[in-house]
Amino acid sequence: MENFLVNISIDDVTPHPFSSTRVLEQCFSLINKFPDIKFTLFIPTSYWRTVKPSIATSHPLQLDRFPDFCKQIRELPAENFEIGFHGHYHGIPGKSDNDELQDLNYAQAKEVIASMKKTVKDAGLEGVYRPIIRPPDHALSHAKDNGSNPLYSAFRSSINSIAG
Ligand SMILES: [Zn+2]
Repeated sequence: MENFLVNISIDDVTPHPFSSTRVLEQCFSLINKFPDIKFTLFIPTSYWRTVKPSIATSHPLQLDRFPDFCKQIRELPAENFEIGFHGHYHGIPGKSDNDELQDLNYAQAKEVIASMKKTVKDAGLEGVYRPIIRPPDHALSHAKDNGSNPLYSAFRSSINSIAG
């Protein structure tokens, strides 16, 4: 029987008080039991919930404004953790808490990528993010520009330079 490696992916690890880094305690207790376990944390670069009043914040939780959060992420052991992209705002401000990447054309996708890239740099997280993206709410644009998916094309051409 083959041995499998275990990867657990966790979305929405953010500075928001309702998500925060509390989940890391559970990660580390699993690492104690299973030392080769791996976690992929998908972290929006400027998480902003605007629709549901109980969780909305007045400003986006842009990572460079939360140095303690960034330090904690930066210091995670690379053998057990990797960090992936999960949108910039995660939602569409004023309209939806999710779906940021659902209806983008190529130019808009490039704007989201530029925002993520700038925030990663400003937060001192270059080289920490891997070139992996999980679209918020699993919603990825299916629009077609010249026969190809604009979001896929934009990310394929830019994601390596974002991760730095
Ligand atoms: Zn999410």
